[in-house]
Amino acid sequence: MSKLLTAPNGKKTVIEIGPVRIGGEEIVLIAGPCAVESEEQLVKSGLHLKKAGVAILRASAHKPRTSPYSFQGHGLEGLKMHQAAQKKHGLLTTSEVMDPRLVAEVAEHVDILWIGARNMQNFDLLKEVGRCGKPIILKRGASATVEEWIMSAEYIMAHGNPNVILCERGIRTFETSTRYTLDLSAVAVARMKTHLPIIVDPSHAAGRPELIAALCKAAIAVGADGLIVEAHPNPKESICDAAQALSLEEFEQMAKELKPLAESIGRKLCL
Ligand code: PEP
Ligand code: MN
Repeated sequence: MSKLLTAPNGKKTVIEIGPVRIGGEEIVLIAGPCAVESEEQLVKSGLHLKKAGVAILRASAHKPRTSPYSFQGHGLEGLKMHQAAQKKHGLLTTSEVMDPRLVAEVAEHVDILWIGARNMQNFDLLKEVGRCGKPIILKRGASATVEEWIMSAEYIMAHGNPNVILCERGIRTFETSTRYTLDLSAVAVARMKTHLPIIVDPSHAAGRPELIAALCKAAIAVGADGLIVEAHPNPKESICDAAQALSLEEFEQMAKELKPLAESIGRKLCL
């Protein structure tokens, strides 16, 4: 049973990280490459995306790959690249953590940790990030129910960390025209069941760039507090998830289209 997630007086939780507020009026844009490739890639992405309204640069130093022979991420070196690049672009940063033994190390180098879909029910990892002192983005497992997703958030909170951001990223269905099926009803359901901020990842759900803008619009309309989108300085060259990344220019154009929509429903998008 959930003890911590029932909305207190129906009020949403607003998570403040430096100058950024997640869960308030503003819709927070998180974007960046799938993986940390180099410091230069992060600086280039960060500077361009900042101009496009992005508050948090995503890029992971650790990558959960389907094949053990695929690029696994630069690890600690990648985390150091994040720190070095941040001095030049100034955005908040986020990277995935997959291993409970590496939680402290990741938390030392980035502002927000994310738990990937494949680890949503890695309970030892959830407990460890509960103790890490940094906000957590908790991605929904591809086969997890909303209830299971929420109980995973409860694990993190029960271990001392109230700063959890739920992220819908698509679930496994019979449909093959997209990589996963973006479950926007889960955003509405989670909104009723919890006070936590909820963001949407259209990139991993769609698996291809031409659907991203439409899914972002739908996510805003259904009440998402933010978006996390893969964008790369040169998508074709992306080491990881090349098929779904937007270019930085495409992201910038899309963000402009999202602004009037956000404002039409009383939300803000700071571009
Ligand atoms: C990612 O964000 O790059 C990622 C691996 O996402 P997910 O865990 O949702 O598949
Ligand atoms: Mn990815």
